[in-house]
Amino acid sequence: MKDKFNIDNLVRENVRGLKPYSSARDEYVSDGSKMVFLDANENPYDNGVNRYPDPQQRGLKVVLAEQKGVEVQNILLGNGSDEVLDLLFRAFCEPKEDNIISLPPTYGMYKVLSGINNIENREVLLTEDFQPDVNAILQKVDAHTKMIFLCSPNNPTGNSFSSHIVKVLLESFKGLVIIDEAYIDFSSDESWTKKLKEYPNLVVTQTLSKAYGMAGIRLGICIASAEIINVINKIKPPYNVNELTQQKASERVKAIDLVEREIADILEGKRELLKVLNKVNFIEKVYPSDANFVLAKVDDANKRYRELLSKGIVVRNRTTQPLCENTLRFTIGTVQENEQLISVLKSLN
Ligand SMILES: *Cc1c(COP(=O)(O)O)cnc(C)c1O
Repeated sequence: MKDKFNIDNLVRENVRGLKPYSSARDEYVSDGSKMVFLDANENPYDNGVNRYPDPQQRGLKVVLAEQKGVEVQNILLGNGSDEVLDLLFRAFCEPKEDNIISLPPTYGMYKVLSGINNIENREVLLTEDFQPDVNAILQKVDAHTKMIFLCSPNNPTGNSFSSHIVKVLLESFKGLVIIDEAYIDFSSDESWTKKLKEYPNLVVTQTLSKAYGMAGIRLGICIASAEIINVINKIKPPYNVNELTQQKASERVKAIDLVEREIADILEGKRELLKVLNKVNFIEKVYPSDANFVLAKVDDANKRYRELLSKGIVVRNRTTQPLCENTLRFTIGTVQENEQLISVLKSLN
């Protein structure tokens, strides 16, 4: 497998020959000495954001690399992981020619992005216990299949995929295996970033939107081999991560103790909520969760959704998703919010 992986076979033809756009801020890299910047037509009067941001986000990447245990060259940052996912489509998939495989019920953006980029999305349902169906997936693969999207822990089901199954896919599929780890910080499983050196076709995406509590600043993380990162770098907009985001993200990533305390509180809230959910008479099944949300099967999802709404609680109705008939997805909130939810659940019958 390792000898056979050749990135040039995967990259879109027009991207293969591209050089990354060199912006003013790229050409001159500061060595720390005091310089006069007359190169980018900026307003010279300092207000904190009058200069263009670093297009390679070096400071932030150094902090992230250390925390994630990878090298700076293995990281690409985007305006949310949604941008990272879009860049993957645009770097590797030829419109109207190539295809990707996604595994419903899962995160909706893989389908949306394949639609926007005019790439066929081949869907292979998860099994009844929400695991990838390896044989069915490999049967759908053809010479134009560029990427398989695995979301683990999976949204909206909450479970992680078996590492054995993921390994089989990494070893038998010659394209890119994208593992969306938006919820990895809530899981006790190890991140697949630890396996980068073993699998040249592995791409991991993470985000500051969930456990790190920074959905509003839009910071998505792509972690892969330097070879793959270099390809995506060629097509990323030069200033896709703004200065305020870079600053806020660095502060937050450094404050990992605080983040970890919040994660612990959220997981404690989940344990409390699970105890109650299992006793609510209209809840038929509560699915195992490695994330900061819980999926539950109820008697009538539309009805229960409306009842909760009328009591001021907004949850996610997933009933239209395959294998998710009559399910609701509950995000874990603050202690007080969880108590509100619990008291409303107990009041319904
Ligand atoms: C929430 C979520 C994301 C986050 O995307 P951002 O653009 O980084 O906010 C990515 N993947 C999955 C599966 C998610 O649930």
